[in-house]
Amino acid sequence: MTHDTEPTGRTLPDAMGYLVASSAPQPWREAVARAAQLLTPGWDNLRGQGSLLGTLALALYTLAHERQQPPADVPVEVVKEALEHQEQPHTPEPYELQQRMKDALTATGQVRSGPDLHETPVWRVYRGLVHVWHPEVETSDWEPGPSEMSCAVQRLRELMAGLDADRAMLLPEAPEPTGPIRITVTSWVRTVRYGGASAASISVRCPTCNALEGGTLLVDGPDATCTCANGHTFTQPTLSGPHIRNALAQCVYPEGDTRVPGGASGSVTVQGEFRVASSSMPEHADPWPAWFV
Ligand SMILES: [Zn+2]
Repeated sequence: MTHDTEPTGRTLPDAMGYLVASSAPQPWREAVARAAQLLTPGWDNLRGQGSLLGTLALALYTLAHERQQPPADVPVEVVKEALEHQEQPHTPEPYELQQRMKDALTATGQVRSGPDLHETPVWRVYRGLVHVWHPEVETSDWEPGPSEMSCAVQRLRELMAGLDADRAMLLPEAPEPTGPIRITVTSWVRTVRYGGASAASISVRCPTCNALEGGTLLVDGPDATCTCANGHTFTQPTLSGPHIRNALAQCVYPEGDTRVPGGASGSVTVQGEFRVASSSMPEHADPWPAWFV
């Protein structure tokens, strides 16, 4: 198998697909669809598409819960007002909105703390977006953060400034999100990581029976699960849905050069070794850089 390195942004159905696992609750599906509809104009030129869609979907999900109405019925003005939070001194984080999101997610069972800890993929979307980066060294001069959500909220305010109820009525329906894909691999799955002078390629090994060769990967929403050739299912923190889809999109098969688009769903077979950039790499990192054998 050869490869192709052209980086692309996420299509709207792909970005929606990463937010909506097949187990996703209906109100969340509707919130993602409404957010996608509101972001349709100019989607291909948006920077940070995934965090904009995720943040707007979470805001819609929260407002729909608070107002006890479907996400599509939440008035545009109410959405804009929720994004116009009062910033606290010394921080760009939209804490008030984040707290409302957290309350709505907790009330609808997306997270449970304590001994029976439970998190759904919807909660993990929230957790990822509000995460504030901190320098590893305490004495570092680097400022912590900001979170992806704080940047997304600012950008959403600009994007939605000219939108009102009448204009929102004219927007096309949102597309269907990309569905799950099951990838059968005939040889090894390897995660690759590189940067600076270091590079590593690690084979994915079943933690139960140590099997390395043959198996399947299932990408469903943000999650990826592996099943070894002997039928054991496990997860690997280094494998993420977006990175696997990116690796798949960069595979070009010898027979007829049929490229599998990132947004493919259903099932596909990869002949030979399947290399995927590690989840710690940028999403569109090339899993087959020419110098890396
Ligand atoms: Zn196994």
